[in-house]
Amino acid sequence: MSEVTIAKRKEKCENCTKQCNKKRSDEGADPQQERDGVNGQMNEGSQLLLSACLSCDGCLSEDESLKISQQSLEELERVLALNKKCDTSKHKVLAVSVCPQSLPFFAVKFGVDIGEAAHKLCGFLKSLGVKYVFDTTLAAGFSILESQKEFIQRYRRRHHDPHALPMFTSSCPGWIRYSESVLGSLVTPHICTARSPQQIMGCLVKDYFSKQQKLSPEKIYHVVVAPCFDKKLEAVREEFYNSLLETRDVDCVLTSGICASSVLWSESGNRETWEIYYLMEQKKVSAAELDSVPLDQVLGEAGDTALSRHEGQGPEGFLEHVFKHAAKEIFGLDVREITYKTVRNRDFQEVTLERDGEILLQFAAIYGFRNIQTLVHRMRKGRVPYQLVEVLSCPGGCLSGRGQAEGEAGGRADKALVQQMEETYSSLPVRLPEVNAALRTLYRDWLQDSSRASTLLHTQYRTQGQIHPQPPHMQW
Ligand code: SF4
Ligand code: SF4
Repeated sequence: MSEVTIAKRKEKCENCTKQCNKKRSDEGADPQQERDGVNGQMNEGSQLLLSACLSCDGCLSEDESLKISQQSLEELERVLALNKKCDTSKHKVLAVSVCPQSLPFFAVKFGVDIGEAAHKLCGFLKSLGVKYVFDTTLAAGFSILESQKEFIQRYRRRHHDPHALPMFTSSCPGWIRYSESVLGSLVTPHICTARSPQQIMGCLVKDYFSKQQKLSPEKIYHVVVAPCFDKKLEAVREEFYNSLLETRDVDCVLTSGICASSVLWSESGNRETWEIYYLMEQKKVSAAELDSVPLDQVLGEAGDTALSRHEGQGPEGFLEHVFKHAAKEIFGLDVREITYKTVRNRDFQEVTLERDGEILLQFAAIYGFRNIQTLVHRMRKGRVPYQLVEVLSCPGGCLSGRGQAEGEAGGRADKALVQQMEETYSSLPVRLPEVNAALRTLYRDWLQDSSRASTLLHTQYRTQGQIHPQPPHMQW
């Protein structure tokens, strides 16, 4: 990253902290603020949402900033340009994996259904020189199945392991970063160890698919199209880097719409750095003239080409799948429909399994940092009644990710766009991961045994001290 850019970021951070009033003076900490941080309390008047902070990037370490700056359209264009040069030793095979949360964005923008949007996006990416385009629903299926198994194990050891329950879901990197940086051992042992769909997709492409194609993993340049900036942070984590081959499971994350950070860093206040949708605009490509090209399958032609979704209110699906699985596995009960009870607002809901008036299971979906603060407060008091909590840092869930749903004025999600995306997404047919033949094949042929599944499909979380210190002005 150039010195100019770093200086600009620093300056931006100063401006921002003045506005959010979170910066400690150079001489020392504001004692009240320090107390608040320790107690996990939030001062409503000066509250700054984590999503806003990560979007301006002022709180990243230099090392993280450098790695993240390499996840950009410029980098993608550099790799594509190298492929056109005579030196074949520098050529890469480009593979792009598109998150299911991003496809509704393209469907709404193109004015077509979600299947057609996937094909048009695939046509666009292939016209640039991308060789393979996948959707990550298959990887999400692995993540759900592994989360289900882990929940049952945790439930069975709950009486002799104080960290077994509640179990928190692990798919949101914003939530993981917050837990590791701020909450530490209060929360990290409770986070499900199943890798997120993005990182399982990374493993599938660099480990399984590369072998099928007889390619060394570093010969593949793997891009993920995602709804948020936070996924870039996840891709650069050490555990997803193969130092021997000098390659990452995910080399580059690009947001579906705009990278919010670029808005904040722009000198003129205009959007300078465009990501996928804006790349199309830049190249003056309209949806109507794009070729429709079917998506590729990790399993090759043996794979199923039909797009499907998982059960649940949004594209995440962890809560509903684990709930139904646990009801059957632990209590022998078939749950067909799940009724959500709104506890505080649309982003804090509960589901309960009862038998003869006794509560057998109680799960919650908690989205957005305001609601997460409530959860953390209850954790500190030992008053979390739930066995599982699906936690997402964006209010409204992943469709509202700031890499695609942010309104023109910046800051808040565009509600009309999010509603259209929700309707589009819900039109997809539901397919349970348990009956997905591709997953069964991959468990048998790729993972083979539980120790390999545990290595490739699970991860671990750092505690404070293992990561760089929290910036002094950051109030979570
Ligand atoms: S607290 Fe967040 S928003 Fe404020 S300056 Fe730091 S990084 Fe930027
Ligand atoms: S909730 Fe937001 S930050 Fe978390 S994974 Fe989804 S879009 Fe990204």
